[in-house]
Amino acid sequence: MSRITQPDFEIGIIGGGPAGSALAAYLAKAGINCVLFEREIFPRPHVGESLVLAANRVLRELDFLPEMEAAGFPRKYGAAWTSTSGKIYTDDSNDWKKALSDYEVDVCFGDREYPEAGQPYTYHVDRGKFDLMLLQHAQKLGATVYEGIRVNRVDFPHDDYPCVIFSMGQKEVAVKVRLVVDASGRRTLLGSQLKLKIKDPVFNQFALHTWFEGYDRGKSEKNDYIFIHFLPISNSWIWQIPITDKITSFGLVTQKDNFSKQKAVREEFFWECVKKHPEVFEKLNQANRIRPFKEESDYSYAMKQVCGDGFVLIGDAARFVDPIFSSGVSVALNSARFASQDIIKAFEQSTLNNGVFKRENFQYYENLINRGTKNWYEFITLYYRLNILFTRFITDERYYLDMVKLLQGDVYEEQEPDVLQEMRKVVNTVEKNPDHVWHNLLSQLTANTFKPEAKLVSTPT
Ligand SMILES: Cc1cc2nc3c(=O)[nH]c(=O)nc-3n(C[C@H](O)[C@H](O)[C@H](O)COP(=O)(O)OP(=O)(O)OC[C@H]3O[C@@H](n4cnc5c(N)ncnc54)[C@H](O)[C@@H]3O)c2cc1C
Repeated sequence: MSRITQPDFEIGIIGGGPAGSALAAYLAKAGINCVLFEREIFPRPHVGESLVLAANRVLRELDFLPEMEAAGFPRKYGAAWTSTSGKIYTDDSNDWKKALSDYEVDVCFGDREYPEAGQPYTYHVDRGKFDLMLLQHAQKLGATVYEGIRVNRVDFPHDDYPCVIFSMGQKEVAVKVRLVVDASGRRTLLGSQLKLKIKDPVFNQFALHTWFEGYDRGKSEKNDYIFIHFLPISNSWIWQIPITDKITSFGLVTQKDNFSKQKAVREEFFWECVKKHPEVFEKLNQANRIRPFKEESDYSYAMKQVCGDGFVLIGDAARFVDPIFSSGVSVALNSARFASQDIIKAFEQSTLNNGVFKRENFQYYENLINRGTKNWYEFITLYYRLNILFTRFITDERYYLDMVKLLQGDVYEEQEPDVLQEMRKVVNTVEKNPDHVWHNLLSQLTANTFKPEAKLVSTPT
């Protein structure tokens, strides 16, 4: 293979969200010459405002926690779930007899030790501000950053380095790199270009979200938790995330079929749904909406492969599963961390093949990401199959700590957390027994329909 010229940069990163910026920061810190292209001019709004504790590990390693504190993002000590189903379900066969009517359950992160997080809380963030800060942090550490540059595609010539292609005026510009990292989020630039994307046939959720000012979150110490308010509509819930003292983010998540195609009717639907939770409705009605509603749809998918010769996918560009447990930003940050370790190792140990990254360079990354997303996917699938299960396990002291661990979002190392096996056993029992008191609560979403492929495929040229 002839390499006529040297690459312009060692690594080219597409996208300056949490995944791209964290990777640029790790690489710059290690002295690796990298360039990041971001299509927007920051700050720009973005969905995904509540972090989980596993995000802290990355923020800490990048010396970014002091900046988070200085910025005054609300501290997140835990999460709470409420429901106004009005029904009572008990299960005599499992000695779980506590009523589940109009319940509120919560977890406090500090209940389980997590030394790597450095502190017993994480943050809720205004993504406009957070993403800008992280991008600037990467730049300060030495990464080259270009905002307002939308990458059109990546060329993979068989006898030269990959090229990141974008337009400037009428001209196309090519930047040559040893490795392209796709961190373009749900736009999945490379996943679409290389036809790696598999749409999730199981989750077909839809979200409508906005910000309100003046929502009364109350005076309790838990008022800065994230709240998930379950609705008495199949697989539907509302998030409540503190953004500042005065501003609260609200989002409705439901199955896509529930939404009308007309925009105005959708907003009415938002209010109709909120009305089903009278306490939230009453307070929200007295608050002021300060942003237009924004929609997110068709957001669950996987990739046939998350790396290949000359490229690696990180963050949402690699995979996206339903956001019920607020893990997206944490997964994005941690995927950047794992990928950076493989990249740095390849440079240190000179394991590049003729100066080029091969899929084999990312074995560690691929294994961890596949394991982590499998565990998350399983958790979410079980949750959607039988909502009540989640509440049952979290209110049961035998499983509480394991549930807190799972909700901290750090499930990369273990093959499968034990609590997932226990949850699956219960679902199997309920599925097999039509007379079970929970049988009619089973949703139509089923497990085991969706397994990412892990074939070794070379980059198409
Ligand atoms: C309804 C909903 C609710 C969610 N709630 C939460 C939550 O509470 N907590 C949580 O942690 N996560 C949540 N998420 C997930 C979270 O939004 C994402 O997981 C997270 O933003 C992923 O970060 P990323 O860096 O991979 O991608 P992004 O944050 O999407 O960043 C990608 C960047 O790439 C840029 N880009 C795209 N295409 C190009 C191109 N061609 N050229 C150059 N740049 C490009 C984009 O402009 C963007 O800035 C939610 C998601 C949804 C859909």
